[in-house]
Amino acid sequence: MAATYDAIVVGGGHNGLVAAAYLARAGARTVVLESRHKTGGAATTESPWPEAPEFKVTRLSYVMSLMPPTIINDLNLTRHGYKIYPMGPYYQAFPEGGSIKLYADDAERNYESVARWSKKDAEAMPRWDAWLAGLADVLGPLLLTVPPNIGSRKPRDLTGLLKLAWRNRGLNVRTTADVTRLMTMSIADLLDDWFESSQVKGALAVNGVIGTWAGPYEPGTAYVMAHHSIGDVGDGHLGNWGFQEGGMGAVADAIEAAARRYGVEVRLNSPVSSILIENGNAVGVALANGNEIKAGTVVSTLHPRTTFLDHIGEHNLPPDFVTDIRNWKTRSGVVKINLALSELPNFTADPGSEQQEHHTGSVEMAPSMEFIERAFQDAREGRPAARPFSDGVIPTTFDKTLSPEGTHIMSLFTQWVPADWNSEPHTSELEAYADRMIELYDEVAPNFKASVLHRDIVGPYQMEHDYGLVGGNIFHGELSLEQLFHMRPAPGYADYRTPIRGLYYGSSATHAGGGVCGIPGWQAARAALADRKVTKSARTAGSTASARA
Ligand SMILES: Cc1cc2nc3c(=O)[nH]c(=O)nc-3n(C[C@H](O)[C@H](O)[C@H](O)COP(=O)(O)OP(=O)(O)OC[C@H]3O[C@@H](n4cnc5c(N)ncnc54)[C@H](O)[C@@H]3O)c2cc1C
Repeated sequence: MAATYDAIVVGGGHNGLVAAAYLARAGARTVVLESRHKTGGAATTESPWPEAPEFKVTRLSYVMSLMPPTIINDLNLTRHGYKIYPMGPYYQAFPEGGSIKLYADDAERNYESVARWSKKDAEAMPRWDAWLAGLADVLGPLLLTVPPNIGSRKPRDLTGLLKLAWRNRGLNVRTTADVTRLMTMSIADLLDDWFESSQVKGALAVNGVIGTWAGPYEPGTAYVMAHHSIGDVGDGHLGNWGFQEGGMGAVADAIEAAARRYGVEVRLNSPVSSILIENGNAVGVALANGNEIKAGTVVSTLHPRTTFLDHIGEHNLPPDFVTDIRNWKTRSGVVKINLALSELPNFTADPGSEQQEHHTGSVEMAPSMEFIERAFQDAREGRPAARPFSDGVIPTTFDKTLSPEGTHIMSLFTQWVPADWNSEPHTSELEAYADRMIELYDEVAPNFKASVLHRDIVGPYQMEHDYGLVGGNIFHGELSLEQLFHMRPAPGYADYRTPIRGLYYGSSATHAGGGVCGIPGWQAARAALADRKVTKSARTAGSTASARA
């Protein structure tokens, strides 16, 4: 006989765990089904070197920023081990000599650092920071907003649209124009409007291309930068970017501990092969081993292609929706390189391998906009970047739990390799790519190459096959303009509901994803719980109306 629960959550990534915790907190008997041997998905801490198990790397995602206080507080995550060390400055050492440091909240030191490259840029920097903060104030709260189903005439959707319009009634012509610029411009064009020095522009461009299949000259990259710069989603100020103690897997562990406390059951090594549907309603799932599990509510947090095309099947879905999911863009050409280091990099521009402030933040390899663009063009032309860019961090400058005393872990988030490298492992080419990446750091910190004790390279193929990140996209789908807000994951279904009654969708491919923020999981659980109320009251009134009607 099939086991029965109130709710099944497919996928034990951080969003699945958040959804499960909220469902169980509301009293639903909930099970999480995870295909891997551990939970966390892309928020994972692992020991990739069997010969050196004492090193732990935060294997895919590496820094926290957008988890809202509501989720942290509701689930008491701090009690369960959620502990963030705020990051140090952005740092770039230049091959031609010199360096730049940018601080999140120190205008005076920013002025000093930027003025070395351009006095004009140093003067523009506080205005830029204020401009961005103003826009983040508008965009931040939208992250906690359920996108309206534009065009729908259903009362709930019309109410949502009205609420959104009412909330934004105070926007003036300037702010509306600035938001339009942000949504439509390339990060390169935007920065050209503000700054003149290539060093400053390179430094500020990185956030515009993180995880995107788009170089800095592509329209829409200005928004990606803003997505990574939001400091408040409307329920309190978010921490600065920071390192979770124990790596990103410890974020997932904290959520899992909270979920278990509410009674959630977590089943590992339990790949789901299909979602069971009867008369248009989700009624449970089938596992790859043939077992079935039944529940009236199913939340999927897997990639949209996996959820809708593989687990539900096109024949069960409206044709327009199928087309939207088939056309979903899910490339990024990211390669994650995790290193164990015997000592910290000794930068020629800022000598010393004893720990200094510039080791504690982003240790970048993105010396100019042209450098970043060249890396993208290589990949677009079908070759791995000859000179990849990297967003590097050394979390062990704070977190001593990841490596033995005196040694360090360095996490390099690098781009780009060709978009189709998800279909083949490309092992030897990735090794050569990692060699080139390490050489680039060695040019500015000559002890770097010799300090590498172990290295772990995770390319798009492994991201797709081992972690379910289809196409190797780090967010389950690109943050391109046509895939944001009411279009994420498909028009008409951005409210965390799906064409199948009783099936909710809460992966990073929904609004507010990607990133380790938990908002999609939280919203999917809220939608499910709201509909359960609707269903209950409809039942009481003797109606058979579906929750979505
Ligand atoms: C290299 C890299 C770097 C990143 N860096 C950052 C960063 O620094 N900061 C940040 O905020 N975000 C970062 N991200 C993005 C962020 O990690 C993701 O957006 C987020 O973790 C996705 O969470 P999720 O729960 O939606 O999905 P996932 O984490 O993908 O979870 C889905 C889960 O479902 C499981 N699964 C798959 N198929 C099945 C099946 N058939 N049955 C059952 N279970 C299944 C998977 O094993 C996985 O555990 C990064 C991502 C990557 C890949």
